[in-house]
Amino acid sequence: MDFELTEGQRVIKAEVRKLANRFPLQYWREKDWKHEYPFEFVREVASAGWFGTAIPTEYGGAGLGLLEGSIVLEELTAGGAGFDGSNACHAVYFNSHSLVKHGTDVQKEKYLPKIATGELRFQSLAVTEPNAGFDTSKITTRAVKKGDLYVINGQKAFISRLSETDLMLLAARTTPIDSVQKRTKGISLFLVDMRESGKAIEARRLHMMTRHSVDTNMLFISDLKVPVENLLGEEDNGFYHLLDTLNPERIYLSAECIGLGRLAIQRAVEYAKQRIVFDRPIGKNQGIAFPLAEAYSEIEVADLMRYKAATMYDNGQQCGPEANMAKLRASEAASKACDRAVQTLGGYGLANDFDIERYYRDIRLMRIAPVSTEMVLNYLSEHVLGLPRSY
Ligand SMILES: Cc1cc2nc3c(=O)[nH]c(=O)nc-3n(C[C@H](O)[C@H](O)[C@H](O)COP(=O)(O)OP(=O)(O)OC[C@H]3O[C@@H](n4cnc5c(N)ncnc54)[C@H](O)[C@@H]3O)c2cc1C
Repeated sequence: MDFELTEGQRVIKAEVRKLANRFPLQYWREKDWKHEYPFEFVREVASAGWFGTAIPTEYGGAGLGLLEGSIVLEELTAGGAGFDGSNACHAVYFNSHSLVKHGTDVQKEKYLPKIATGELRFQSLAVTEPNAGFDTSKITTRAVKKGDLYVINGQKAFISRLSETDLMLLAARTTPIDSVQKRTKGISLFLVDMRESGKAIEARRLHMMTRHSVDTNMLFISDLKVPVENLLGEEDNGFYHLLDTLNPERIYLSAECIGLGRLAIQRAVEYAKQRIVFDRPIGKNQGIAFPLAEAYSEIEVADLMRYKAATMYDNGQQCGPEANMAKLRASEAASKACDRAVQTLGGYGLANDFDIERYYRDIRLMRIAPVSTEMVLNYLSEHVLGLPRSY
């Protein structure tokens, strides 16, 4: 079901789905087994121009909104790839919002046209640290200004797609936490050109349960030199600039969850119609049908919040509560959909060849990252309901 899409949005949906459908399920199974990045798929997404969807036309993009970008990511997921497809591409979308909003004219002219064509891969965002976890104010990676350079030292945890990026958006402290009045002050954002970083960034790949085709890394940063012109936005105000990446990220990921949830339900329904046990299709049993119907309705409800949040962002409205609620509802609904899909397929639901176990593994991530269910509930309790902060 589509929520009042315009003709243009319907065309995007159909075209992206066509692209996604050109990659058979076997392609994704192999990427998962081999832990291999889907280069061929990403190249097609780039050459069709989809990376430029939400980039302004003056910088070579299509000048559309976050909503259209989210439709692209939803369909890259729903076409069979699951998160192995969309997660290979998605950082370009959310990283670019901060660059569009806070970049200087020189930075935008230098990077955005190449990002739009896929020539420059803007695929990593480095915020999380081992000793800070969800408390971003406690990051200790330090950037010290020395002449016309910042020298950066520290560690980052769980950084995705490091081997597939040319440009990384990095958060570091420019003023230590004990020297600022508010703990969210003193953080700055940097555009790090990975092609020039040499040995200053050492990465150790983590072996994760999810998204095998996308790498996840610990980073060790020693004397990384970043030119002052690569500071994004104002020094010490990076935490606030980062919200223009984090809120879009939540909305984009809610669209991916919706795509994955729909894919899992579709696969389960097809199976439930043709699998005969006790002389009848298993879908005749309400114990199989009702949970699928329930998961379907929850996906559709989550989709409404995703459209609301995306539309608000595109209209320049504050959308923190809506972005968080979209992410919460979509990740929970898709988790239920994938779980019910496994149950519908029985033992085959756990067999690699049937794909559902991959969707089930991948969706688990979305209740933890990029923001966990608990942290969304903390946000809503404090900032929307006005309850006292618990931590
Ligand atoms: C596969 C993967 C890829 C990722 N990619 C990136 C990336 O590219 N870039 C990046 O910057 N980060 C990335 N992350 C990090 C992610 O977005 C989270 O920010 C990070 O995992 C949180 O840190 P932590 O795991 O140490 O959790 P912790 O902060 O240690 O939290 C552990 C648990 O405690 C709960 N918790 C903590 N505090 C509270 C509280 N006050 N109230 C209730 N519950 C609480 C949390 O919800 C969580 O369930 C990735 C993570 C994963 C797993």
